[in-house]
Amino acid sequence: MSEHIIQTDICIVGAGPGGAATALQLARLGIHSLVVDKAVFPRDKICGDGLSGKVFTILNRIDPGIGERLRTFEGKSDSWGVTFVAPNRIGMDIPLKLDYERHMDAPVGFVSKRIDFDHFLVEELRRRPEIRLMEGVSIDEYERLPEGWRVKGKGGGVCIEAKLLIVANGAHSSFARNIAGLKMHPDHHCAGVRAYYRGVQGMHRHNFIELHFLKGVLPGYFWIFPLPNGEANVGLGMLSSAISKERKDLRAMLDRTIAEDPVMKERFKGAERIGGISGYGLPLGSERVRLYGHHYMLVGDAGHLIDPFTGEGIGNALYAGHYAAKHVAAALSKGGDPTDELAAYEADVYRVLGPELNISHKLQQMVRYPWLFNFLMRIGARNQELRELMTCMFNDVDLRHRFRDPRFYLRLLFGRGK
Ligand SMILES: Cc1cc2nc3c(=O)[nH]c(=O)nc-3n(C[C@H](O)[C@H](O)[C@H](O)COP(=O)(O)OP(=O)(O)OC[C@H]3O[C@@H](n4cnc5c(N)ncnc54)[C@H](O)[C@@H]3O)c2cc1C
Repeated sequence: MSEHIIQTDICIVGAGPGGAATALQLARLGIHSLVVDKAVFPRDKICGDGLSGKVFTILNRIDPGIGERLRTFEGKSDSWGVTFVAPNRIGMDIPLKLDYERHMDAPVGFVSKRIDFDHFLVEELRRRPEIRLMEGVSIDEYERLPEGWRVKGKGGGVCIEAKLLIVANGAHSSFARNIAGLKMHPDHHCAGVRAYYRGVQGMHRHNFIELHFLKGVLPGYFWIFPLPNGEANVGLGMLSSAISKERKDLRAMLDRTIAEDPVMKERFKGAERIGGISGYGLPLGSERVRLYGHHYMLVGDAGHLIDPFTGEGIGNALYAGHYAAKHVAAALSKGGDPTDELAAYEADVYRVLGPELNISHKLQQMVRYPWLFNFLMRIGARNQELRELMTCMFNDVDLRHRFRDPRFYLRLLFGRGK
């Protein structure tokens, strides 16, 4: 096959949330980019499909038009909160917003199958004349040039030369592993499996997503996320070090939980599974990594940015993409060696996401002590103030620090939630 060389300032590998956010923010700044994805959209991505408040916030910041189209997008269900269930089975409903029942026109969270949500993002890419999208091209060869990269599609045919490479090709990125040198550490990596079900009973009337910290799944959880049309994303994720130490089989655990757990077997009575059980990796942001190098930036899962407690990675990938674009713009306008701007990108990502990644890491470690979690839930079940505090914590990282302070628990014991 003859090789066609495409020259571009910016090549983005991966059109998932991280790559899409980078391209959309660049387009808003009037900067052209080439986005290459091995898939042809709509394509599936193994995920819990939960979209936190960050997703709307950042897409709306990139372009209020996208925010508005997301608000009315039919491929999602609105979600108003999270139900946490402790190992002792005590549950606590935490709304994402105080007083949400009086403001139900402005939901904070969503659940949307990734085949639909990522297609929504790709449609946004297609709207922008500044973005050229190439689908069905798997980038498998990377050659370092003095001032950029030459990348090639599998089997030849496509050859791209770019001054800046945005690597946003997800958790299994060969560039991140082999060129950027990011290794998979089992203590900072999770594995997850998910399946779609129809007809699960006992869902929350306002579509709260459910995280069940069942004994056999710690550190990790079993989830049920309500989708449109009476479907649900059901899955289970666990720290990779615990999986290998205890020789866990996540698919079998998911089946067993649904068939044998006393609560779940009732809720899944009559429910029907749609398709099989699929699994994928989650590189966690519990360890700071290098997000840049010679004329490249790592964005999203390729840069290990998933929240270690909640498993949320979509919002973080969007944030990273937004900042990557800002620093690409600055690098292009200055000209010359872009290293300072690439370093500033990494600093921005960790300035914004670092504090919550740190706290989530601590919370993930706390979950190793089921008694502490049980205690918190027992108190929270009868303490309105604590539930309200937890709601505020979704929006205020500083408040999450309280979970690490022993005085917080003492005050709870003596009946004061603040
Ligand atoms: C089981 C599970 C449950 C999860 N649940 C949630 C959840 O509920 N909420 C949440 O926020 N996050 C969740 N996550 C994390 C979330 O899925 C990721 O953080 C998110 O998809 C990261 O986006 P990204 O753009 O970095 O990568 P991806 O979404 O993986 O996108 C990468 C893109 O790169 C493309 N690509 C890959 N290789 C190449 C190549 N060689 N050449 C060209 N293109 C390539 C892929 O086709 C893909 O389109 C979950 C993850 C797992 C595994």
